[in-house]
Amino acid sequence: MSLLIDDVELWDGTGSPAQPKMSVEVRDGRIHWIGSASQWQGNRATVRVVDGRARTLIPGLMDCHVHYSSPGGPEWIARFTDPLPEISMRAIELAEASLRSGVTTVRDVGAPQGVSIRLARAARAGEIRAPNIRAAGTWIAHVGTYVSFARQFAEANELRDAIRTEIEAGADLIKVALAGWNEGARPKDAPDIPFDKKLLALAVEEAHKAGFKIACHANDPTSCRIAAHAGVDSLEHGMFLEAGDLEAMEKNKTYLVPTMSVWDAMLYYSRAVDWPEARRKRAEDLRQGSRAAVTAAIKAGVKIALGTDAGGGAARHGRIAREAELMVECGMKPGEALTAATSNAAKLIGEDERGTIEQGKIADMVLLDANPIENIGALRMIAAVFQEGRRVA
Ligand SMILES: [Zn+2]
Repeated sequence: MSLLIDDVELWDGTGSPAQPKMSVEVRDGRIHWIGSASQWQGNRATVRVVDGRARTLIPGLMDCHVHYSSPGGPEWIARFTDPLPEISMRAIELAEASLRSGVTTVRDVGAPQGVSIRLARAARAGEIRAPNIRAAGTWIAHVGTYVSFARQFAEANELRDAIRTEIEAGADLIKVALAGWNEGARPKDAPDIPFDKKLLALAVEEAHKAGFKIACHANDPTSCRIAAHAGVDSLEHGMFLEAGDLEAMEKNKTYLVPTMSVWDAMLYYSRAVDWPEARRKRAEDLRQGSRAAVTAAIKAGVKIALGTDAGGGAARHGRIAREAELMVECGMKPGEALTAATSNAAKLIGEDERGTIEQGKIADMVLLDANPIENIGALRMIAAVFQEGRRVA
């Protein structure tokens, strides 16, 4: 049976302004017809009608940076090393919660033991209720510089092998981490980052040669500099980016995925869990750095795609609205934040058939009980979520 979302305010993600009194008909999981509500010619008895009055319809949201293998919270890194059955079960629940919050596509950018690859497969097979998941497999990092459960390499040929291994295991994209100076705290007298410019160039070449995108974790000043100039597809976090780096990103068409929710959540936990003062102070500094970088990136015309880092930092899953709010606080218009969470995210991920509401595209859509162009917080007012034309929330 086809579906008609009737008489709705439509924000389609193409760059056109929102239009009132529109109707959208879905058939076989795709957008079949879009037009003025009064122009629809079908028979109401043969379609399922969803009342769109006083509601806004937007494309399904995309979160370009999640980790379903951890729930986030104050001990997020320890949660990645929970027993495998627990991680796997939890990942299924978190993916479903995320879908219900309006997120219909994600990149899961790093999981231990291939969890995200299996999760993505189960989602594709329709075995679980989850967003469309693009999985990065396991993080790739230089030995001893990042989390212990990353795939580690010491030399160039091992880096190539690591990338090939991820691809063979079924990863949809490659994720590398330049250094693990966690929370941006590079130890005094630390050696130069071993995963340097030369090695990153090799990783970019290897991934692109195989037709895969590459995302790069960069959360200290040196990593930001290296990643910004390397031609990676996306630079994750980036709270130490400076003017020259942003210029390089703009030139290389590298997306920034800011993950500002993480610092927000860290500040919350630093009070709620009684972290040492130094750690609270660092979280505050990182938050400031992140905001400054995002504001400068917007001005420099760097492409931005939304990512929360839910699970991979203190941020919890299912709170994508907060990240969009933070983008608006940093200077984006609500429509630009929505674009970062829909059509821009689709371009970064390589989802040609999603990200906008246009005839022929896959019908991933969110119906809201308020207008996010007036107030981006409306992303919390979920009335319904449609995935490939099927109502899932
Ligand atoms: Zn992450």
